[in-house]
Amino acid sequence: MTMQLKDKVVLVTGASRGIGKAIAQRFAEAGAQVVIHYHKNKKAAGETLSGLSGNGHIVLQADMADPAEVRNLAEESLEKMGRVDVLVNNAGIYLGHTLTDVSYEQWQEAWNSTLQTNLLGPANLTFLIARQMIKQGGGRIINISSRGAFRGEPDWPAYGASKAGLNSMGQSLAQALAPHKIFIYTIAPGFFETDMAAQFLEGSRGDEIRAQSPLNRAGRPEEIAALTAFLASEQTEYMTGCVIDINGASYLRT
Ligand code: NAD
Repeated sequence: MTMQLKDKVVLVTGASRGIGKAIAQRFAEAGAQVVIHYHKNKKAAGETLSGLSGNGHIVLQADMADPAEVRNLAEESLEKMGRVDVLVNNAGIYLGHTLTDVSYEQWQEAWNSTLQTNLLGPANLTFLIARQMIKQGGGRIINISSRGAFRGEPDWPAYGASKAGLNSMGQSLAQALAPHKIFIYTIAPGFFETDMAAQFLEGSRGDEIRAQSPLNRAGRPEEIAALTAFLASEQTEYMTGCVIDINGASYLRT
């Protein structure tokens, strides 16, 4: 399949590290211009930028949980790049809040910040970028969800709910936006080797987690990056609305 990503503008949220960084690298290798969004770690975002092939990439900061900052991110992306062809909603948080262990205040805090970052942030950025994509004549939106949306997250229930919401948002907006040639895809990863997952993969549960897959390993961020680039390519229009499992057969939906 020929990738047609050359000179496309791609906005990747949470691209200073982990899966977002790998996605930024993959698109840059394909000749795209990348907006590297980051939250707090400017230095890491700068390192992502300097490691990208090609040129024309930029770095922008925003807290995805803050609607005003999300608006600035969308406006600055469009001002500086002229258009956005592909939006990758990757940024997310994974905050533990076991029901039996936390206070009511901690419970609310976990639910609020998780939903604001993982669901409302992507919903707001999608609104702003999709309206621009309609003017441009089309675009692609790729949401990074989680296996946890399907099988539950006993100690991170807001996380599971936020990702289930993201799946549903993708399905709804795929229908709403197809007439505008905006196609939406959702990727649901199992465990991947990133800073977010390190506490589990490097801890006492590491071997058990790797053994959940018959490949006996966690995923690699480049594997999600390759899938993301494929979804942004020319021949995936009819896949719009899909939710794709990428979890090494560690969880097979029935
Ligand atoms: P990561 O923690 O390395 O990256 C997450 C990124 O999101 C970071 O760059 C962080 O700065 C950004 N972010 C967090 N809160 C933010 C906020 N309020 N505003 C702006 N940016 C914010 O983790 P990762 O593993 O690379 O995760 C990337 C995505 O993949 C997340 O959505 C995560 O839920 C999802 N995911 C990861 C795994 C895994 O095993 N690593 C599994 C399933 C899903």
